[in-house]
Amino acid sequence: MGIAECRADFPVLARKIDGQSITYLDSAATSLKPHSVIDAISEYYSQNGVNIHRGKYYLSEEASDAYERVRYSIAQYLGAYGNEIVFTKGTTEALNLVAQGLNLKSEDVVVGFLDSHHAQLLPWRRVSDVKLVSLNSDGGINLEHYFELLKLKPKAVVLTHCSNVTGNIAPIKQMAIAAKEACDAIVIVDAAQSIPHPHLSIDVSKIPVDFLAFSGHKMLGPTGVGCLYGKSEMLDQLRPLMLGGGMVDWVDIEGSQERKIPHKFEAGTPPIAATLGLGAALSYLNQISEQDSREHTKELAAAIIRGAMDRDYLQILGPKTTENRCAIGSLRIKGCDDLSDIARALSDSYGIMCRTGHMCAQPVVDNQMGGEILRISSYIYNTKEEIERFYLSLDELVSFLG
Ligand code: PLP
Repeated sequence: MGIAECRADFPVLARKIDGQSITYLDSAATSLKPHSVIDAISEYYSQNGVNIHRGKYYLSEEASDAYERVRYSIAQYLGAYGNEIVFTKGTTEALNLVAQGLNLKSEDVVVGFLDSHHAQLLPWRRVSDVKLVSLNSDGGINLEHYFELLKLKPKAVVLTHCSNVTGNIAPIKQMAIAAKEACDAIVIVDAAQSIPHPHLSIDVSKIPVDFLAFSGHKMLGPTGVGCLYGKSEMLDQLRPLMLGGGMVDWVDIEGSQERKIPHKFEAGTPPIAATLGLGAALSYLNQISEQDSREHTKELAAAIIRGAMDRDYLQILGPKTTENRCAIGSLRIKGCDDLSDIARALSDSYGIMCRTGHMCAQPVVDNQMGGEILRISSYIYNTKEEIERFYLSLDELVSFLG
């Protein structure tokens, strides 16, 4: 499937608000959903709708099989084994599960990035002594600083594959190998912003990654489901965060026996419909070639960078070339501190939906931009004309506001 044809698959894009079409530029927050994902959810509720892994009857076995098939298709996508995929609520839960489950001590050093999302920073801060790798002047990761911090022999390195603020793609293979060579650190990757892009897929059999986390809703899937990949020997050692039904082999008056991985991490009834929707999302993404995904991302990133660089009143964070970059633009409007008024006017007057604030990455946003930013982020259904329209609308608003 060519990327250009995919817009028609997203029903929200056909919607008009007050007679105006929608330009959705907030896909780093969450992606829109294609018909096939919505249909998969609806089909589960209309044709099945029962619980999994419990009932010895047709409908329950059918739902359990469909649910487990999603696990295997995700494993295949990552080059992992099925039992190495744990379903979670999303990236945040997956990273908390690892941070809480590893039994770190507060004096253990963990190396993270200055532009880590709060979901990748705060869970580690609670359990360890986090040191942050600074950024280069172009917004990329300062590798020299990273290698310097590896001399502290961190217990873990927590890498962000693609920053939700700078759009920078970190060289995670090189960084993971360096962490293993320096001190055999546990390598944890936040892939929330990279997994949605077929050209950024990660083969965990080729990179020394111990854990990797991502969310379904950023890759065309529904909210409420995401994944933690963990190497089987690492998952075996990890302590479950949630206890309850479904994660035990037996319970008696005095004790219990946990099930094997991945089930020991999946206590309670999971979001079955959402997981089936995630399976449909993955099938959809599998139809897009890596080359199409790469070229489309480059085209959008070029439009984002060019639009910002052409305007004196704008400052853009992150790499100024399209190499190793996603199509995310974090902007600061010189002399304007109230960006939420701008975002509201873009929405109300032009139908353009984008974000303002700290993007759940306050250390980097405050440090590099001196305050809140306006972020545009795009995905497979966006066009470079939409990016250009955003900048022209912003020009009008900024000149109107003086
Ligand atoms: N990590 C990154 C890089 C993100 O961009 C996000 C969400 O924006 C998260 C983690 C958290 O994802 P979720 O809210 O789906 O758990």
